[in-house]
Amino acid sequence: RELSTEEFCPIAKDQFEGIVFHKKGLRINDSRGEEHYVNVVSGTITEGIAVQLGCILTIQDITREFAMEKTKSEFVTVAAHQLRTPLTGIKWSLQSLFAGEVGKLSHEQREMIGGASSAANRVIDLINDLLDVSRIEEGRFGIQLQKQSIASVLERVVDTFQTEAHKKGITLVLDAPDPLPLLNIDEDKIEIALNNLLDNAIKYTLSENIVTVKTALTGKELIISITDAGMGIPRSEFDRVFSKFFRSKQAILHHTSGTGLGLYVAKNIIEHHNGKIWFDSEENKGTTFYVSLPLAR
Ligand code: ADP
Repeated sequence: RELSTEEFCPIAKDQFEGIVFHKKGLRINDSRGEEHYVNVVSGTITEGIAVQLGCILTIQDITREFAMEKTKSEFVTVAAHQLRTPLTGIKWSLQSLFAGEVGKLSHEQREMIGGASSAANRVIDLINDLLDVSRIEEGRFGIQLQKQSIASVLERVVDTFQTEAHKKGITLVLDAPDPLPLLNIDEDKIEIALNNLLDNAIKYTLSENIVTVKTALTGKELIISITDAGMGIPRSEFDRVFSKFFRSKQAILHHTSGTGLGLYVAKNIIEHHNGKIWFDSEENKGTTFYVSLPLAR
């Protein structure tokens, strides 16, 4: 009832137009007023070049799948919150033990506590990633765009990783002209996305090298590129890079830690800014991730 004929069955402009209407997760009410979620696809049926006989409409009721997805997402949110609180407590206790706040530790004791502390941090990172993913999937990520420059975000992101880069002998370079044009961005969310990209560039660079964060301007957008000369991504795995929980064979082989959620989150954030994210990579040579964001009018 809520689909107009013109919308789902328009006059095809030519016989090759094929699918003319495609909507996913459309909410409709049936004749009893019950709510359903449906996927709708329609295609025109033509005879010869010019005669349109009608169209064929496929409506797939996905109400059950929709409800299951929602329950799954809610479960993840509740479980993640319940796990995060005690783990954060464990993390702080381990950190004060490590800092010698409750007595001097032997070398072995410090090593054990250091190991436990980084394991706790890894689990907290995983929980935070899972929470971001369920917020995105439940539409609760709450992106609020404001007209501003991205310069301070870029500086903060690069500063955050200077220590980590230095420890690995990596030179981290920010190459952005001053001033940068204004963009419509949610600073905190863009920072999460860029943090994930830079974290990867450093994590997947195993030897001393350079990682560069660079900006370039086209007429309508700002392009941020993050380039490393690290392990790269095998071409055969390109298609899956932005999928949830994807980790490349290379990454697993080198025992790098990660959840496989960072790029999924980054892609969602960038697309909510009407931007694009893509990459170029060669195995054992390096990777560049690009983010383009439209300039504010
Ligand atoms: P993770 O937590 O595993 O880093 P991401 O979603 O951020 O999860 O990245 C997914 C996978 O993509 C990584 O596990 C890695 O295999 C690959 N990857 C991402 N960025 C890079 C990079 N700069 N160099 C090489 N591989 C990368």
